[in-house]
Amino acid sequence: MKGVLQDLSLEELLSLVQNAGEKPFRAKQIFEGLMQGKKLSALPVPFALRAYLLERFEDEPVKIKDTFVSQDGTKKFLFELADGNLIEGVLMHYDYGNTQCVSTQVGCRMGCKFCASTLGGRVRDLSAGEILGEIAAVNRLEGGTLKERAVTNVVLMGSGEPFDNYQNVVKFLRNLTAEGGLHMSARNISLSTCGLVPEMRRFAEEGIPLNLTVSLHAVTDEERRRTMPVANKYHIAEILDACADYFEKTGRRYIFEYSLIEGENADMVHAEALADLLKGRPCHVNLIRLNPVKERNLKGTDERTAQAFLKALLTRGISATLRRSMGSDIGGACGQLRAKYISKDE
Ligand code: SAH
Repeated sequence: MKGVLQDLSLEELLSLVQNAGEKPFRAKQIFEGLMQGKKLSALPVPFALRAYLLERFEDEPVKIKDTFVSQDGTKKFLFELADGNLIEGVLMHYDYGNTQCVSTQVGCRMGCKFCASTLGGRVRDLSAGEILGEIAAVNRLEGGTLKERAVTNVVLMGSGEPFDNYQNVVKFLRNLTAEGGLHMSARNISLSTCGLVPEMRRFAEEGIPLNLTVSLHAVTDEERRRTMPVANKYHIAEILDACADYFEKTGRRYIFEYSLIEGENADMVHAEALADLLKGRPCHVNLIRLNPVKERNLKGTDERTAQAFLKALLTRGISATLRRSMGSDIGGACGQLRAKYISKDE
């Protein structure tokens, strides 16, 4: 398979352009155009340069195969990669802008019991350019320009474990934040991990101060192991230490995802234990009622239980919000759409 043009940094593109005997400004022109979602063929560059690049690279790594629009305006995309693999992404509209949720792998091998992405295991990693290609495809569809971007915020919360694809994800983040491209501020980017401690520590050194989010979903290691196999490898205490290190290095407070699962982690004792665990830490808790996944025998709590859980955290001085579950009518949760598609094909 050919590489994809969007994998290249501006510097890498520059040396290719120079190898092809063209002027350096072409690199910037192409980098900008690609990040906006344009295809190389749509850019006014010399024919010979275009041919030189297309001989070596794909210029459209991600195509939108299908779009679903929820009643709340959330859009869900089914993307097709050059090798026919399918991934998915979501665009959510908020007052402050539009947040795109991107996938980082085809499938996932972390095995969380409540998550549809992991049902078929991990198929392969996405390259940096493929992850960027998801954003480029949505910007193209929604007509985003560099100034009036359709996608203003990005969350790495689609299928896959970003830190299980570390190198490509970091390269993607460098290109996404690079001047001349989308130049997105790290503050507008959130990365969610199931808690791969060595990579969390390594990431603290990369100089990309984004919103680090950790999927906690339990208050003790024993309970966490029931739904998250990764808890056999890393303890909650190690995760908290790595988060503290991230705060020290970047000055960014960190976030915990806590999906409320009926009969599992959503009782008052859990709320109290969670508050004890996080007391005094520069963090925020994002609660969400679990999106039921047909293939899994786990259910979210009712709204009243979720509100009570939230209140218990707030009254104990923990910063927390209960997120609306968006797009649940269109299979908004991770991997749901792809799983549906794959089973339809079989
Ligand atoms: N692998 C990363 C990012 C992908 S999942 C991680 O584990 O954080 C993004 C978030 O959605 C995670 O917090 C994940 O635990 C959560 N999630 C997965 N399935 C869910 C479901 N059915 N309902 C609610 N949240 C879910």
